[in-house]
Amino acid sequence: MQSTNPYTTDVLDSYETPTDDEVEAAVERAVDRFPAWADRPVQDRCRILDRAGDLLEDRVDEYASLLTREMGKPIEQARAEVEKCAWLCAYYAERAPEQLADEVVGTEADARTLVSYEPIGPVLAVMPWNFPFWQVFRFAVPNLAAGNVGLLKHASNVPGCARAIEDVLHEAGVPEGAFQSLLVGSDTVGGLVEDDRIRGVTLTGSEGAGRAVAEQAGSELKKSVLELGGSDPFVVLDDAPVEATAEKAVTARTQNNGQSCIAAKRFVVHTDVYDEFVGAFEAKLDALTVGDPREESVDVGPLARPDLVDDLHEQVEETVEAGATLALGGEPPDREGAFYPPTLLTDVPRDAPAATEETFGPAAAVFEVESEAEALELANDTSFGLGASVWTADVERGERVAREFEAGLCFVNEYVKSDPRLPFGGVKESGYGRELARQGIREFVNRKTVWVQ
Ligand code: NDP
Repeated sequence: MQSTNPYTTDVLDSYETPTDDEVEAAVERAVDRFPAWADRPVQDRCRILDRAGDLLEDRVDEYASLLTREMGKPIEQARAEVEKCAWLCAYYAERAPEQLADEVVGTEADARTLVSYEPIGPVLAVMPWNFPFWQVFRFAVPNLAAGNVGLLKHASNVPGCARAIEDVLHEAGVPEGAFQSLLVGSDTVGGLVEDDRIRGVTLTGSEGAGRAVAEQAGSELKKSVLELGGSDPFVVLDDAPVEATAEKAVTARTQNNGQSCIAAKRFVVHTDVYDEFVGAFEAKLDALTVGDPREESVDVGPLARPDLVDDLHEQVEETVEAGATLALGGEPPDREGAFYPPTLLTDVPRDAPAATEETFGPAAAVFEVESEAEALELANDTSFGLGASVWTADVERGERVAREFEAGLCFVNEYVKSDPRLPFGGVKESGYGRELARQGIREFVNRKTVWVQ
């Protein structure tokens, strides 16, 4: 397995992939380790996770530069990702004991009834490259705190991050076997999902990968959590402050070089502010600095792999062929690296790829609507249901609209983001189950009813 810098196109490193016997030995190690890890007091496990957070904090620059080298994330955003992982460790170290404590229900006067939350064993995590630290930590930390043991199959283009995460968790005190990274391709996942010893599987990635894993997990009657793509609407109502909203729209679309499941992808704008918003949005997108992601001043770096540029360009071209207007960008630059320019599509037909598919790069699709009702109808007219935001001067109106969104994460006057304290996940084809918070930490546990008469 190789990791390649998408900016320089240099091969950074090569990694041995494990043999079938080595994968088997790793699963066995996980099974062997589970009882002892699960039996430790939750506070002990949390102390170790807290230490992992301290180590991340001490090495923010080292890990940030690894993220930037391996998948092209602008360095400032890479630092923010590592810092957020450190926060997540500290948060669960403090809160997991309470989130996992017995819940006394009290059904009858003469009985003690409660729910206890008990770990289930080895859980497989199939993770993507777009937030190579965050996606893994947000699986690993709550699950390790709950007493499960983890097996990571990270995306094939970020093996360096996979190794670094495994190392830092071990250094913090997570025992060998309680968290292991398997540098395997996606063709190994099926066998692992089928394996009785693996008690659950979580996947973050594309709809196709999600369907493959869900199908298998279903046939094995195995618990799964899926966090798939999104085509989040960003709804600008007629009373929104246009300039400030356009500023947020740029970040919402181009963060992480546009490669985020919760990036705003469809901009649904009321006709009263349409021209002003589109003008401001275009000017701000055009003013972004595209280039070397190691430079502090760079807003948009390369996409993580050359094939992702090809996929995005095809979606943009097909959207224009379907009748959209290309207001900005739309042509990969003639330079080294997997670059795609900030791109603005207006007059986008509702059946064009930029309207119906997830666009994973800095390309925004804008739609004009005549009313709040039409905005909501268009926002919900998608097979996805991950996040959605609405922008207005009237917060009560905003909350009313937000509650009408068919999505898992609904924001008013803020772009959609993940937060260790709040559950994260979607509805419809964006997946099912939740990560993070009380809801997430209780996904891969036996929510056991105990009745003592
Ligand atoms: P994938 O969904 O292919 O990759 C995500 C993870 O799933 C990787 O670890 C990958 O392994 C694994 N995987 C892929 N196919 C299977 C399968 N059939 N069975 C089991 N595991 C599988 O994403 P891509 O990197 O190909 O990106 C394609 C598109 O997916 C993006 O353009 C975007 O639309 C979406 N995506 C969404 C993400 C999100 O955050 N929701 C994150 C990443 C992508 P391997 O790397 O070895 O192929």
